[in-house]
This record gives sequence, C-alpha cells and structure tokens, in this order.
Amino acid sequence: MAINVKVVERPIEETSYVRATLKGMANTLKHLVGGHRVTTQYPEQRESISRRWRGTHRMLTTEDGKAKCVACGLCPTVCPANCIKLVPGEDEQGNRYPLVFDIDEFRCIFCGYCQEVCPEEAIHLGRHYENAEFNREGFIYDLERLMAQTHPVTEMWDPADPKGE
Ligand code: SF4
Ligand code: SF4
Repeated sequence: MAINVKVVERPIEETSYVRATLKGMANTLKHLVGGHRVTTQYPEQRESISRRWRGTHRMLTTEDGKAKCVACGLCPTVCPANCIKLVPGEDEQGNRYPLVFDIDEFRCIFCGYCQEVCPEEAIHLGRHYENAEFNREGFIYDLERLMAQTHPVTEMWDPADPKGE
C-alpha cells in the first residue's frame, strides 16, 4: 500500500525561532523599564489565596472537643498517596473512634479526596501552606496536631459556581 505524506504548510511567523526570541526579549525589556511590579515581598506582604486552596489538613472536633472522625476507614482507602494511617477503636457503646490517625503531609499530594469522601466532614484540607520542617518526621501530623490546627478549611468545588474563583 502506498504511503501518502501530507505536507503541512506553516507560515514563517509560526516557525521562526528568531522572531519568537526577539518578541520574548522585547517583552522582557518592556517589563524591565516600565511594567508594573509583580514581586511580592513575602513574608511581610502576602497575597490572598483561593478559598479552594488545598493545604495542611485539619481534623474538626465536636462541641465536647473530640475528633469528629468515626474511623470508618474511607479516607485511608481512597488516599492515592497512601499517607493516612488509621487504627480504629470502639467504646463500650459501640461508637468507633480513631486510636491512631496520622497524615504524612510530606507524602500527601493534596488531592482533596479524603475531604470529599469523609461522611462526617471531619477531615479537611486547609488554606495553609507554611508547614516547612527540618526533617521528614516533622511532617507527620498525628490526631492531636491535626485537631490543634486553626487555619480556615478548604472549600470544595461548587457545581453552582464551576469556575470557582
Ligand atoms: S489530600 Fe489526597 S493524598 Fe493527601 S491525605 Fe488526602 S487523600 Fe491522601
Ligand atoms: S473518612 Fe472521615 S470519618 Fe472516615 S476515617 Fe477518614 S476522617 Fe474518619
């Protein structure tokens, strides 16, 4: 069978690297001499982040200060990074609760599945990113630490507002 070769004609302005380079340099020069400044003087100056920003987790608590988690096991099951460790416990009344609930924030990919799947709206990602540590162990957030977080929680995608913000 004969093979046909289709030759696609492309205009010179789409294929000239010289032209593209010059255009890029002109753009740089324009910002160098008169463009508005885009540098943020962090940490003194902070930009606001999206309400849907997914950062450091929080475990929400009940009115009497206990974790809302009922140790159902859904979040460690759905977690694609396998970074949630859950050991369930049960009290005399048969209520389940987490004996151990750890999240490795270093392995986490901040996909948000754990928040989406949680039937108790207990585990949330948060609008927080200043969680640097000096060693990997420091990124393990146990239940107590997750409950002690106070930053705002991440809002999930709203179908009524598909573009978000
Ligand atoms: S955000 Fe995603 S990767 Fe991180 S703990 Fe939750 S499910 Fe796992
Ligand atoms: S999905 Fe929610 S209730 Fe279930 S184990 Fe995770 S945090 Fe606890």
